[in-house]
Amino acid sequence: MGKVLIIGAGGVGTVVAHKVAQNPDVFTEIMIASRTKSKCDAVVKAIGNPNIRTARVDADNVDELVALFNSFKPEIVINVALPYQDLTIMEACLKSGVNYLDTANYEPKDVAHFEYSWQWAYKKRFEDAGLTAILGCGFDPGVSGIYTAYAAKHHFDEIQYLDIVDCNAGNHHKAFATNFNPEINIREITQNGRYYENGEWITTRPLEIHKALTYPNIGPRDSYLLYHEELESLVKNFPTIKRARFWMTFGQEYLTHLRVIQNIGMARIDEVEYNGMKIVPLQFLKAVLPNPQDLGENYEGETSIGCRIRGLKDGKEHTYYIYNNCSHQAAYKETGMQGVSYTTGVPAMIGAMMFLKGLWKKPGVWNVEEFDPDPFMEQLNKQGLPWHEIMNGELEV
Ligand code: NDP
Repeated sequence: MGKVLIIGAGGVGTVVAHKVAQNPDVFTEIMIASRTKSKCDAVVKAIGNPNIRTARVDADNVDELVALFNSFKPEIVINVALPYQDLTIMEACLKSGVNYLDTANYEPKDVAHFEYSWQWAYKKRFEDAGLTAILGCGFDPGVSGIYTAYAAKHHFDEIQYLDIVDCNAGNHHKAFATNFNPEINIREITQNGRYYENGEWITTRPLEIHKALTYPNIGPRDSYLLYHEELESLVKNFPTIKRARFWMTFGQEYLTHLRVIQNIGMARIDEVEYNGMKIVPLQFLKAVLPNPQDLGENYEGETSIGCRIRGLKDGKEHTYYIYNNCSHQAAYKETGMQGVSYTTGVPAMIGAMMFLKGLWKKPGVWNVEEFDPDPFMEQLNKQGLPWHEIMNGELEV
């Protein structure tokens, strides 16, 4: 049915490649390209399908991307490199007539700040070119928005309160490690918190607000209010929302390490002089921390990510909790990667599948909740991320 190019051969890219290869009826030709070609070759070897092609590309360089796109001629690019590359890849898509999907919104390298404005600004150009761009199609952002769209379509006339809850109750037996790219992860967590209430954004100090929330099959876990990018699009696309928040669990040991990292200046993203060289401390830290891709083998436990929603149906208040639990070990057995990469990579593959099947094809730049959630939800159950619903339970939030 279609040719796909995956950019990025990290934890998420590896999962995307496995899942794309598992669906040969939809993805008829596959290429994986990244900055380091040997990583792409290793992924292909692990999958055991010699028909998957590989290439080296610097995704910061539009001309290199255009040359690659023009030689392979993919219908869609799945961008699972880093958020820094979103705009160059979108530019190259416009130049070569290729559709686009990613899992994280653009961030400039020199400021830890992410918002959709930079990518939304491409809407008219994608529309005029007749190309589709699907933004934020991982788990959160991604499935969190699709769950919300599904709830709005089937269970509510008016969604009023939305809490996205993200728990990782896994244990990788390392003193400190991040579950995806450490640079991106630490930039996200050390920012101020932010949530939406009654038409305004309220800022908190980093990790200032927290409470214990109970996760299915896991139990209570301390959960911290963070700003997360899907809040921006969800309050825009569901204007009945009065309050929208995002919560993520962290253990005490993790937070202690994070505090020390910040206090000693290792979370800095500006350049410092070291031995006549310029280095960015956070990038150096990434080089010495465990590689998130190597956590899988000894990772136990599971993740639980979902949406807790309160709103009105037929004039009556109603609550709804929809979630997925994903076992790190099961993810590792299937793809060689842990659950956080798995829960991101599977939805990215499904989003590309929705596009190639013509179900999510509309020129412009869209967040996932702007498409029909039903065929995506059906695939989540088939592709390894089944979901569960609790009607009118206690939401705790
Ligand atoms: P990794 O750091 O493991 O992998 C990133 C990959 O991108 C690496 O292969 C890297 O190459 C490659 N890359 C980096 N810069 C370039 C470049 N200039 N040109 C070409 N390739 C490049 O990250 P993850 O796999 O953990 O994360 C991938 C993406 O997924 C990130 O954007 C992250 O924010 C997002 N994510 C989204 C989530 C969601 O739920 N929505 C959850 C988790 C992650 P090299 O190996 O040479 O460094």
